[in-house]
Formats: sequence, structure tokens, C-alpha cells
Amino acid sequence: MPKTLRKPAELAAARLVAPELLPDLEKVAGRYAVAITPTIAGLIDRDDPADPVGRQFVPDPAELATTADELADPIGDFAHAPVKGIVHRYPDRVLLKPLHACPVYCRYCFRREQVGPGGEALDDAELDAAVAYIAERPEIFEVILTGGDPLMLAPRRLRVILRRLAEIPHLGVIRLHSRVPVADPARIDEALTEALALEQPAVWLAVHINHARELSPPTLDACRRLTRAGIPLLGQTVLLNGVNADPAVLEDLFRAMVRARIKPYYLHHPDSAPGTARFRLDLAEGQALMRRIQGRVSGLCQPAYVLDLPGGHGKVPVGPAYHRQVADGTWQLRDSRGQEHAWPPLSARASDRAVAARSRSRTAAAGRD
Ligand SMILES: *Cc1c(COP(=O)(O)O)cnc(C)c1O
Ligand code: SF4
Repeated sequence: MPKTLRKPAELAAARLVAPELLPDLEKVAGRYAVAITPTIAGLIDRDDPADPVGRQFVPDPAELATTADELADPIGDFAHAPVKGIVHRYPDRVLLKPLHACPVYCRYCFRREQVGPGGEALDDAELDAAVAYIAERPEIFEVILTGGDPLMLAPRRLRVILRRLAEIPHLGVIRLHSRVPVADPARIDEALTEALALEQPAVWLAVHINHARELSPPTLDACRRLTRAGIPLLGQTVLLNGVNADPAVLEDLFRAMVRARIKPYYLHHPDSAPGTARFRLDLAEGQALMRRIQGRVSGLCQPAYVLDLPGGHGKVPVGPAYHRQVADGTWQLRDSRGQEHAWPPLSARASDRAVAARSRSRTAAAGRD
């Protein structure tokens, strides 16, 4: 069985990096975790230095440079961590992070300072405290398992955690965020789907996918096993320069997702994680891409474009906006071809005034009787 590549020398042997980069890549690997599964290695075109899959997972010497605007905790998780393993930013939902390991380590990861193999998982006492925190707060409707990657847990451990959460009567949804269906689809076996298949709360799975090529046949099979087990699938995509910041690439991706019964949920503007400048793009560029997409694909294929504010202030939908108010009660709306329309239409407003005038004269006439 081929194994997951973790050391720069292994990447060089697999022809994923040039041997002359090894000294720099050793430094990168000393700072940020590296892992490329056989499934992902099989998707990377070695002859294309700009390969969109390779760019996401193959370490790069550019990661050694940190820019002034980059933050170790770019979305402010630490500002809202009341007990170990919990991030509670919005009243009705919490993140529960049972472990720090992932099947692969994405080079643009917003938690790259925290994730990695050997990063501690919650032990039994810590899990008890996290579950108690949720159980004591009836306002919490949804628990989001993230990490790390919750599908890296052994099915037995996952079953224990989900069954513990299922005992909390106020929970309506348990959502898991995972890269496993893409990076290591064979993990989605019967034991795992069985562990996920709760009657209530509803279990939803958000799959992290950034390029249509990631929906390989084994990944599509894994998605089928999940949907057959009654798990609805959502798609989470990070907008990345050099990977998917292109209208045709995004269109292919969102259509491929919908075909696989994955509803595109969020398109994330890239976070300012350290050493990730090569992936970032301007907000205006992202909005222009979304505008193109909006005209080309159905609503089913369209995620919300969101940005996570630094400092723990949460996610903000960042448009683009298709409407602006131009006067009291009057709007300009932009259609999918980019044409602007007054709303309500002038003719409607004119007939509205005529109706009002008629009703005034009727009232006046009635007053004379
Ligand atoms: C993203 C996030 C959530 C989930 O937000 P949704 O908009 O419901 O997907 C919850 N808590 C934290 C801390 C988050 O960062
Ligand atoms: S799978 Fe998610 S948490 Fe893990 S490295 Fe990739 S982006 Fe980060």
C-alpha cells in the first residue's frame, strides 16, 4: 500500500518537488505540517508546475516569508474559547475540535499554527467538560465538529462523541467539516458511515473541495456511501489564487459538486494565515468572479461568498450586492447580464399613483353624500 508522504525527501522521491528545494522545504516542514495522501498524490500532474491540486498541498519555500498583515490566529478562534476544544462565537452554535490531525495539510490553512500530527486530541476528561459546556446551554442548537478533521477519528471514537452529543435534547444538528472524502476516501467505510448515521440530531457533512479534479471516482464513491446513509452533503470552498480564482474553474467545480449531491455552501475569501500570500487575492476580484458565476449557473450551484473577520468577529457575506437604494423606496437592481433596472418599475409607480388618486377622489365623492 502506498503511504502518506510527510517528509520533503519523500516528496522529492515522488517527483513532487525539485531536489534543490530540499533545504528550504525542511525549514517549511519544521514550521508547518506536511502530508500528501496517495489519493492526492495521484491527482497531481508532475509535469505542470502550476498544477491546481499540487499548489494546495505541496509545500513551497514562499511559506517561510510572513507578511505584516498575516496573523497566527487569523479568524480569532482564541478570543472565543471558553473551554478546551470549544469555540463559541455565535449564540446558537459552537465548534467542537476533538483533534488536530488532518489527512492532508493544506498550504493555505487558516489554522496552520494549530493543526498537525501528534497535536493533542481531547482526552476523556476534556471531552466531558466540552460536552457539559454544550449540555448546560439550551441556546446551542448546532455543534460543528472541526479540528483538525473529525473524520480522522477512529469510527469507534467518533461514535462515542456523536452518541454523547445525541443525548443533549436541545441539539438539532451536528455538522462535521472534513477533507477526508477528497483526501482519503477509503476511510469512509461502513464502520464510519454507521457511526455518522444518527436518527437525531440530524448529521450534516460539509466537504472541503477546491477544484473539480478533487472529485475523483473514489471520492464520488465515498460521497455516494454518505448520501445513502442519509447524510446531506454541503460543499466548502476556499477561493485561492492559482487554484480556482477563475470563472470557468469555479463553474466546473460547483456543477461537479451538485452532480455529486453536494450543495455548495460557502466560498471563503482566503484568510491571512502566515506564509500564504501567494494564495490571496483582492476582495473586488472575488466579487467580480461571483458576479460572473451568478450569470452562468443555477442557484443550486451558488455558494455564499464569505469572509471571516480577524479578531473573532465572525463571518460576513461579502456580496457582491445586486441592489442599491437610489431614493426613498426606489432601488436599482442589476440582472445577470449586468443591466440595471429601476425597482419598483416606473410604470408600476405611475399606476400606483393613479390608483391612489382614484381612491382619493372616491373618498372625496363619498364625503359629499
Ligand atoms: C464558521 C463558524 C461557525 C459556523 O458558521 P455558519 O455560518 O453557521 O456555517 C460557527 N462557529 C465559528 C466559531 C465559526 O468560525
Ligand atoms: S483540512 Fe482544513 S484544518 Fe486541515 S489543513 Fe486543510 S484547511 Fe487546515
